[in-house]
Amino acid sequence: QFENNMEECFSTSKGVFYLKSLSLEDNGSVSQVIKKRIEAINDENQESEEGDAFFVADIGVIKRQHKKWKTVLPRIEPFYAVKSNPEPLVLKTLANLGTGFDCASKDEIQRILDLSVDPSRIVFAQTTKQISFLRHAQKHKVKLMTFDNEDELYKIKHKYPGAELLLRIQTDKIKGSVNFGMKFGASLDSTKPLLQLAKALGLNIIGVSYHAGCLIAEPRAYRDALEHARSVFDEAKELGYDMNLVDVGGGFPATMEAGITFEVIASRLSQAVDDMFPKDVRVIAEPGRFYSTNAFTLCTQIISRRVVSTEGDSDPTFMYYINDGIFGSFRTLDFGYIHPVLKVLRKNQEIQDDWSGEKVYTSSIWGPTCSPDDFVAKETKLPKLESGDWIIWEKMGSYTSPASSEFNGIPKPKVYFTET
Ligand code: PLP
Repeated sequence: QFENNMEECFSTSKGVFYLKSLSLEDNGSVSQVIKKRIEAINDENQESEEGDAFFVADIGVIKRQHKKWKTVLPRIEPFYAVKSNPEPLVLKTLANLGTGFDCASKDEIQRILDLSVDPSRIVFAQTTKQISFLRHAQKHKVKLMTFDNEDELYKIKHKYPGAELLLRIQTDKIKGSVNFGMKFGASLDSTKPLLQLAKALGLNIIGVSYHAGCLIAEPRAYRDALEHARSVFDEAKELGYDMNLVDVGGGFPATMEAGITFEVIASRLSQAVDDMFPKDVRVIAEPGRFYSTNAFTLCTQIISRRVVSTEGDSDPTFMYYINDGIFGSFRTLDFGYIHPVLKVLRKNQEIQDDWSGEKVYTSSIWGPTCSPDDFVAKETKLPKLESGDWIIWEKMGSYTSPASSEFNGIPKPKVYFTET
């Protein structure tokens, strides 16, 4: 459970914002917490908080994911990708569990330092760094960082020559995955000139990093990327570098959306690491979604409904308007970053994920802003719902809130924590 003094860890930097979500709301199941919140919202006698969308987060999920990681990937140290979900209690939990952190900006680094995490547990995993961010890293002794181009080497030479560098390499485009290769990573024919330049500048390259992509269905991709890393290790040796760290990036699934389990990926990756790198080479990874996806459930209310009857069709179709959308927690839906699972909660009923015994209607789900592009589901089959009912979205812990805006004045959903 959580110590009472946790608040102190945060009071140094962002005060009120952090303090708000530091405590566990409850220790009931996620469904119990949801129902309790909704009862409070529906209670007309109570001055409730206007009925905005909200998250319920289960810290127990984060802890169990970590246990799983340690069991199946004992050699690979997880550096949690803060970008996927920087909720203070998530970060605090992982800091207590002893993970490292992948940070991509000054703010992310500061959030971790505020938890009294040693700077050696941070990798500044952004290849293109604003100078002030680099200065901040230097000031706080965050040494480990990635790069993938010449300009960055000159910048680091000038601003932070003592940094420990990981050369990020490009990975192949994998079908179906979110591809990072077009923006990041040195191509394999540019690694040698980069290593030579770094040598000439007297910079300290200690290893190789890559990010193979998110939701990769082909386990072969992990071996291929690792083979490339191995070849850069060999190239570096010829130039007088003795590399000792591989960063295998993120993209590890928390769900079956890519059609492959974490365990399968992990066993192939473990084998490949052991085949290619001796035990004295340190291996780290940058998992984000693996830890956070399943921990957060988003609860949205149907704030309005339009029934559309078309002449000739016996059944109407339904348009449901909910209080979160594509400018909010669903911002990354279009990029394929999130794959929520929908349930419904009707008045005086239990949360339901199966309506196979009921009549269903063609339905669409729209967000609360004025934009006609603000839809979450264009065409889906749902039982008949009413204004005031709730749509519950599971697996909403990664790339939801941090990517969202408050367009049209729609607030970001609050988070209520529990631990199961
Ligand atoms: N590392 C890097 C460099 C990334 O860009 C990302 C995601 O964009 C991650 C790690 C985390 O990826 P995931 O949440 O899929 O594990």
